[in-house]
Amino acid sequence: MIKEKFPILSKKVNDKPLIYLDNASTTQKPKSVIKEIQDYYEDTNSNIHRGVHHLSQKATDKYEDARVKIQNFIGAESSKEIIFVRGATEAVNLVANSFVKPIISKGDNIIISQMEHHANIVPWQILAKEKKIDIRVIPIDKKGDLVINEMDNLIDSKTKFISLNHVSNSLGTINPVEELIRKAHQNDIKIMIDGAQAVQHMKIDVSKLNVDFYCFSGHKMYGPTGIGILYGKKEILEKMGPYQGGGDMIKSVTFEETIYNDIPHIFEAGTPNIVGAIGLAKAVEFIQEITIEKIEEYEANLLNYATKKISEISGVEIIGNSKKKASVISFTMKGIHPHDIGTIMDNLGIAIRAGHHCTQPIMDFYDIPATARASFAVYNTEEDVDRLIEGICQAKELFA
Ligand code: PMP
Repeated sequence: MIKEKFPILSKKVNDKPLIYLDNASTTQKPKSVIKEIQDYYEDTNSNIHRGVHHLSQKATDKYEDARVKIQNFIGAESSKEIIFVRGATEAVNLVANSFVKPIISKGDNIIISQMEHHANIVPWQILAKEKKIDIRVIPIDKKGDLVINEMDNLIDSKTKFISLNHVSNSLGTINPVEELIRKAHQNDIKIMIDGAQAVQHMKIDVSKLNVDFYCFSGHKMYGPTGIGILYGKKEILEKMGPYQGGGDMIKSVTFEETIYNDIPHIFEAGTPNIVGAIGLAKAVEFIQEITIEKIEEYEANLLNYATKKISEISGVEIIGNSKKKASVISFTMKGIHPHDIGTIMDNLGIAIRAGHHCTQPIMDFYDIPATARASFAVYNTEEDVDRLIEGICQAKELFA
C-alpha cells in the first residue's frame, strides 16, 4: 500500500482516521523524503559552493545532483536550465521581473487567463502598475475550459508575454498547452506555463513542449515546502539579468563593478534551500519508482469513480466539468456554505479545502463565493472517496 509510506496518513484527526483530500494545496511526504531531510542534517549539513571542506563539498554535490535529477524528470536539455526557487509563486515573480520587465513598455500587454491562480495574476498586476501595461485575459466557458479562439483576438503587435496555467487548481481543467505554446510562438511571443498542478499528475517534457518557461512547487509533488523549480530555455536565461542580489550569484564584487555568475547561479542569490532541493530530488525518485504514467492512470480512475459518486447526490454541483481533468473536484451544495461543508468533513477526519482557492476570478465567473474541493493524490483510494461521499451525505442531512 502506498499509503503506508506516508506516516501522517496513519494518524487520527478528531478521533477518526485521517482521510487527506487536500492534495492540490499540498501533498503529504513519504518516509523516504522525511528520512532524506533528517539524514542531511545529521550527516551532511553545510553551506554549498563556498567551502573546500568535506561537508561543504558533499552538500554541494547533493544540491547539484538534485538539479540534474529534476532536469531529467522534466526533460530539460541542460541542468543549467533548472533554477531552484521557493515555489511557483517565486518563479512567476522572477520571470516578471527579470525577463518581462526589461522588454515591456507603456501601452504593451501581456496575456493570462481567467482560470489563473493568484500567483499568476498579482505579479503581472504589480508590473502593469509600474510599467503602465495592459493585462489581457483569455475567458473560460461554463465547463471550465479556456475559450482558446479568443486568444487569437487578444494577441496583437503589443503583446510581449503570455503566462498560463497547465492545470487549474480550482477546476481541474487540463489545458491544451501544446496548442497554447504553438500559438504564442506563431506570433513570436515567449510563453510561461505554470505547472504547479500538473507535474505531480502527468508526464512533462519541457523540450518536447518547446516551452520558454515552466514552473512548479515541490510541496505539491510529495516534496518539502519552500522549494520549487523555474525551468527556462538556456538561450533565454543567458540574456536575463538577476532577480535578487547577494552572495553566490556573483563572480566578483568591487564597489565599482560586480560581475554576475553564470546561469543558473545568477538567479539563486544567498544561501538557498539546500535541504529542500535534496528533499525534492527524493520526491522525484518516489514518483519515478511508481512511474508518472501509472500515477496518471490510477488518478484518472479515482477521479472517474469520485465524479460518478458525487454526481449521483442531488443538490451537489461539480464546478469544472472539462473533458480533460486532473484529480480535482470542486463542488457546491444547495443550502450549505462550502466552509460549513469543510467543518463537517473535518469533524469526520476528512481534510478537504473550502474557499476561493486563490482563484477569485473563477468564483466571480460562476457567481459563487467559494467551493468545497477534494483533490486526490496517488495514495488516495476508493475507500477515501466513499468516506467523502458519506461526509457529503451527512452534511446534506444536517442542513436539510
Ligand atoms: N499556481 C497554481 C496553479 C497553484 O495551484 C499554486 C498553489 N496553489 C500556485 C501557482 C502557487 O504555488 P506556491 O504557493 O507553492 O508558490
